[in-house]
Amino acid sequence: DFQKKLEYVKKNIRSYPDFPKPGIIFRDIFSVLSNPPAFHALKDALFEHVSEITPKPDVIVVLESRGFLFGPIVALHNIPCVPVRKKGKLPGDICRQEYTLEYGTDVFEIQSDSIKAGQNVLVIDDLLATGGSLKAACLLVKQLKANVIQCLVVMELLNLKGRNHVAVPTHSLIQF
Ligand code: AMP
Repeated sequence: DFQKKLEYVKKNIRSYPDFPKPGIIFRDIFSVLSNPPAFHALKDALFEHVSEITPKPDVIVVLESRGFLFGPIVALHNIPCVPVRKKGKLPGDICRQEYTLEYGTDVFEIQSDSIKAGQNVLVIDDLLATGGSLKAACLLVKQLKANVIQCLVVMELLNLKGRNHVAVPTHSLIQF
């Protein structure tokens, strides 16, 4: 069942203490992709979760770069999928949103015509840490006058309480 699948996926996420710097435990989602049964279990869990979201999202917004691994899978449920990328990567008219990193700031961008006003949006990323990335993505959706109905991540680092920062209903499949 659903929880069994997620336990199996979690067992296959390799953790690397002190990467990329001391004190951080890096959760490597690529260890799931390199194991087809675990990747299938994750895909099944994602499909099952998303099929139960009401209202059905009009658009999926995926965050560069590891959000790009999972959003498109869900998009095969016939939900359009559009990217949020780091600055300077997207062509055409764009909206910008600055966000804070541990040291300094970065900029996320979205194409202005990728979401229509009033649409219901599902935002997908691989991992919720401080919530800075998801918050910036939600602000971009808001700039386009659309509604984020949910942020969905594969993994959540509970001790950082990032979901409080995101301030939009947030769901994680696996918690650390
Ligand atoms: P944040 O904006 O702080 O929520 O950070 C989220 C992004 O940073 C995610 O898209 C992850 O890819 C990456 N990230 C942060 N912490 C970790 C970690 N411990 N292991 C793997 N990726 C991480």
